[in-house]
Amino acid sequence: MDYEKPVSLGADAFRKVCLKCAENCPSRSLSLSCKVAVRGVSKWPTHAEACYAYWHCVGTDCGICMASCPFSHRDNRFHNMVRWLVRRFGFTRRPAIFFENLFYGRKWRPR
Ligand code: SF4
Repeated sequence: MDYEKPVSLGADAFRKVCLKCAENCPSRSLSLSCKVAVRGVSKWPTHAEACYAYWHCVGTDCGICMASCPFSHRDNRFHNMVRWLVRRFGFTRRPAIFFENLFYGRKWRPR
């Protein structure tokens, strides 16, 4: 079986300026700071124990970080176009976040 080369979705660069996931995490498990080296790999610091402790507390899994991520919006022409723009053109990231906040709100709400 052949393997494909990794495909950059642009989410990593977008996350640097967005941080909506971290702001909405109820257990504050996601870092608002820069990436750190973990065993030689550059990663966003997370506090997995705090995340699972929150799951245990509420009695189910959470997923607010994934649900609040602008990259998680429904697959349609408009959202795909925005994802394509922020992946290709860095200057579109901040305007995309502005309109994300305008239309969907900065604070995550269940839909
Ligand atoms: S699943 Fe919930 S508690 Fe865990 S990191 Fe994501 S938002 Fe935070």
